[in-house]
Amino acid sequence: MKILVPVKRVIDYNVKPRVKADGSGVDLANVKMSMNPFDEIAVEEAVRLKEKGAATEVVVVSIGPAKASETLRTALAMGADRAILVQTDDAVEPLAVAKILKAIVGEEAPGLVVLGKQAIDDDAGQTGQMLAALLGWGQGTFASKVEVAGDGVAVTREVDGGLETVSLKLPAIVTTDLRLNEPRYASLPNIMKAKSKPLVTKAPADYGVDVAPRLTTLKVSEPPVRQAGIKVADVDELVAKLKELGAL
Ligand code: AMP
Repeated sequence: MKILVPVKRVIDYNVKPRVKADGSGVDLANVKMSMNPFDEIAVEEAVRLKEKGAATEVVVVSIGPAKASETLRTALAMGADRAILVQTDDAVEPLAVAKILKAIVGEEAPGLVVLGKQAIDDDAGQTGQMLAALLGWGQGTFASKVEVAGDGVAVTREVDGGLETVSLKLPAIVTTDLRLNEPRYASLPNIMKAKSKPLVTKAPADYGVDVAPRLTTLKVSEPPVRQAGIKVADVDELVAKLKELGAL
């Protein structure tokens, strides 16, 4: 079984995002970019399934600028076998990503597609679900455990009340939650080895997908600055203060 893992190059999770002066978006000039953390978890899970013998090949794909090839090389260094870069400088929305992935699924015929539950830049949390709908496949979202057995996969999901396990028939879609695994660091020899693993470059048009945006961002603004706290002497003063602030 082949596993397809879509990985997105996003602003590094340690970076404090700055909003552009004109409020049109987040300033990405000279900002550290990395693989979306949930996608690292997806790559790790796919590589572990391969190591366990449940998969034979892990293919990673990224839709983004030429530099997304660095993100793909990181995935190759973690253990993926080959990579596809669908190169575009346009911002690509989840529906367009899902359509491109559907076309790649048509060519590659994977048994599983493992995506992150959300990309931490736009926080859309839509791509896996849209891909499942376009393909008519079952989906196990927010996975905290994935067990492949025979022609099915059991996915344990973190839901409000605890854990839920769903059983899906392969091929299927899985999206990863934070507690699924701890991704490995790529070792230096594996980083070197990854340089010679196959990476092909394509364009959205190769898959017949129009990536023109369907959403318009009206405004992006900084979160309101948090006000300093105050100390109160006792409960009476606390209640009085809350009333004064209109919180009671
Ligand atoms: P989103 O729906 O944008 O929050 O993204 C959910 C998941 O879809 C991500 O964690 C990735 O696995 C995948 N994904 C989204 N955008 C891209 C992209 N441009 N290239 C590759 N994978 C993507």
